[in-house]
Amino acid sequence: MNVETNIKDVLIRIKAAAERTDREASNIQLVVVSKNVSLEKIEEAYKAGQKNFGENRVQEWMQKHSLLPGNCEWHIIGRLQTNKIKYLNERVTLIHSLDRFSLLEKLNSEGEKNQIIWPTLVQVNVARDQAKAGLEIEEVKDFLLSAKDFPYVRVSGLMTIGALKAEPEETRGYFRKLRELRDNLLRQGVGNEEELKHLSMGMSQDYELAVEEGATIVRIGSKIFG
Ligand SMILES: *Cc1c(COP(=O)(O)O)cnc(C)c1O
Repeated sequence: MNVETNIKDVLIRIKAAAERTDREASNIQLVVVSKNVSLEKIEEAYKAGQKNFGENRVQEWMQKHSLLPGNCEWHIIGRLQTNKIKYLNERVTLIHSLDRFSLLEKLNSEGEKNQIIWPTLVQVNVARDQAKAGLEIEEVKDFLLSAKDFPYVRVSGLMTIGALKAEPEETRGYFRKLRELRDNLLRQGVGNEEELKHLSMGMSQDYELAVEEGATIVRIGSKIFG
């Protein structure tokens, strides 16, 4: 199977999952995760109509993005070290992994220096995973409230990885938790529709479940690149 065929298949499955839950497929964005993938393969995905790519290492992103068409959109999806922020620029469309206060502060100061407002998602550890990627559910409200004091960081939703090893129904529960968290925050007025617009959840193994549970962005690598 080649990249183009794989992308078509993923898009069909996203559409079907959306239809099962009365959602519009056009409201679900595919981020093609291109970490560890060659330029050649990324170009195949681009030629197949994809423009949104996800990278988890800043160094790798730096090497790649300048060699690919200028209208590609880049998503930073992995844990972001504060000493790497200085390498980011306006080519970054969305940082999915805002997961701690120190990162919020540093993004804000670098953003002020370069006059860039960073679009971000707050990463949540819904599965309470040992690996501890993201904020705990209980921490999200205060974090979002304090983020309002940092004008160079703009939050537009939540992200989760779910659990790395889980059965499908367990995974569905984690995605549902993220959606319920978002709905509660909206109800409490912690954020508005723009600030809580996105739910970035679902990877190769579980994106259809994620779409059924309300994902607006899915991040897919291995299903596309093998
Ligand atoms: C690698 C990665 C993905 C894509 O995972 P696949 O299983 O290859 O689809 C999505 N999100 C994050 C944060 C990742 O690191």
